[in-house]
Amino acid sequence: MPFPQSLPEFQRLFPDDLACMNYLSAIRWPDGFECGKCGAVAEPYRYSQRPGILRCSKCRRDSSITSGTAMERTRVPLSVWFWAAYLLTSQTPGMSAVQFQRQLGLKRYETAFQILHKLRAGMVRSNQDKIGGNSDDHVEVDEVFMGGKTRGKGSGNHNQVIVAGAVEVKWRKGDSKLNKRKSGRVAGRVRLSVVPDRSANSLCGFVKAAVKPSSLVVTDGWYAYRGIGMMGYQPVAIPANGDVEITEEHLPMIHLVFSNLKSWLLGIHHGVSNQHLQAYLNEFTFRFNRRFYPFSAFRSLLGIASGATSPTYEGLYSGEWQHPGLLIPK
Ligand SMILES: [Zn+2]
Repeated sequence: MPFPQSLPEFQRLFPDDLACMNYLSAIRWPDGFECGKCGAVAEPYRYSQRPGILRCSKCRRDSSITSGTAMERTRVPLSVWFWAAYLLTSQTPGMSAVQFQRQLGLKRYETAFQILHKLRAGMVRSNQDKIGGNSDDHVEVDEVFMGGKTRGKGSGNHNQVIVAGAVEVKWRKGDSKLNKRKSGRVAGRVRLSVVPDRSANSLCGFVKAAVKPSSLVVTDGWYAYRGIGMMGYQPVAIPANGDVEITEEHLPMIHLVFSNLKSWLLGIHHGVSNQHLQAYLNEFTFRFNRRFYPFSAFRSLLGIASGATSPTYEGLYSGEWQHPGLLIPK
């Protein structure tokens, strides 16, 4: 399926609702319309006044093109949904509901909020399955203090939340040596979670939930990570004793992720309340993990199930990593 690489292309591909419907039905039924009731694969009848409905030519049951997707039973034109999903998946670094409302030209804030909410529901799943498990690579794990909006409490850390993060790290062959900080390392998928504290329970629990067993896991020397060797991981603890250079050398990728996450939260959402932080972590994770796959992201957001395969770990490194990543600075 063609997917727009630019705004003019988007306008060419999706000029109106009918174009969106045809695109949607081509994704859902790549081998031709299949009736959900009788299973017949045959060219359906179409109504000129209801282009979103396809009628089975055998059993005459009506099927909605949007059923089972984020757009099911919507009154908002499909072109608005497509535009919304495209905005969320393209290079724009995320949006508030107000920005969204303006961009989509919607009269009501509530409509923008609902669309955004439904599309974001498609982002949660990406934070579920475990990363790592590739014997050539390793996973960096660390934790960071986030947030802590303080008002009238003086300086210092108040109301801060701890976020644990894990990122796959692949070594790139034939590095240009232009970027010393990353020195030949490429980030794969990421997992982020709010944790209650920096205890062994919390951090080992995070590693267990986020990383496949047997993975090589690099952490700093914090005692709470000592247990992961007993849990089936190959642990590499770097005793940095607060030395920034040592940590930078051994955990550059997860620190890059954390610093991108912080700028994203500050710049786009002007800080986020602790209560909603995990939802934003999910969105960050979704965007990060699909930064080379806008079409996959687009489909996930619209909730379009199709036979198409999602990006694989291997696929991430098959030469496509050179594309500008959404959140990795040049
Ligand atoms: Zn049928």
